[in-house]
Amino acid sequence: MITGRYAPSPSGRMHLGNLLCCLLAWLSAKSKGGQVLLRIEDLDTQRCPRHFADAIVEDLAWLGLSADGPEPPLYQSERAEIYQYYYDKLADRGLVYPCFCSRSQLHAASAPHRSDGQVIYAGTCRHLTPAQVAEKRKIRAPAWRVRVPDEEIAFVDGHMGPYAENLARDCGDFYLRRADGVFAYQLAVVVDDALMGVTEVVRGADLLSSTPRQLWLYRELG
Ligand code: GLU
Repeated sequence: MITGRYAPSPSGRMHLGNLLCCLLAWLSAKSKGGQVLLRIEDLDTQRCPRHFADAIVEDLAWLGLSADGPEPPLYQSERAEIYQYYYDKLADRGLVYPCFCSRSQLHAASAPHRSDGQVIYAGTCRHLTPAQVAEKRKIRAPAWRVRVPDEEIAFVDGHMGPYAENLARDCGDFYLRRADGVFAYQLAVVVDDALMGVTEVVRGADLLSSTPRQLWLYRELG
């Protein structure tokens, strides 16, 4: 059976973008006799308080777009142990490393950028020695990145058509975890879509370039 999902980040009331996305996910799944599951992407609990999540659930019900489960919905903010398990799988293979780069370093005009303006991580902290890491940790807590391969990940999007990225060249090592311990969207979304049995993802075009990273993580996490 086709299983789609709504995965709103409740950082405010539902807006037209969320609504369009939910409507299309619902239409796509239902037109094939499928179901739609609801996952609240509230990893950042400061930005995504529960009352906004509750309002989205109510609005979806009012619109007649109620999810088919789970009940209550799945809250990412309650799943840190699950993300930790999968994060550890990558860390145990030596794929995760600490990154001490500041926001301003990462977004400096001299940093490599893609044609769409997205910053490519230059790998500044990729080869730090244990002594350098220990030294830097005295000054700031690191965020954590995963080492990506020099490999092209290609797929065919049902709406946008063929899309491919070389992870090393077009994206660079990406965050799995913030310095304050919060797991990154890229990890959580892959783990959850897999564990929820999602077979179809309908979402904003702004996330097209996340898909190669997610397909690669999906593969690496088995
Ligand atoms: N939570 C994301 C958003 O509201 C969507 C994530 C996804 O569909 O993968 O923009």
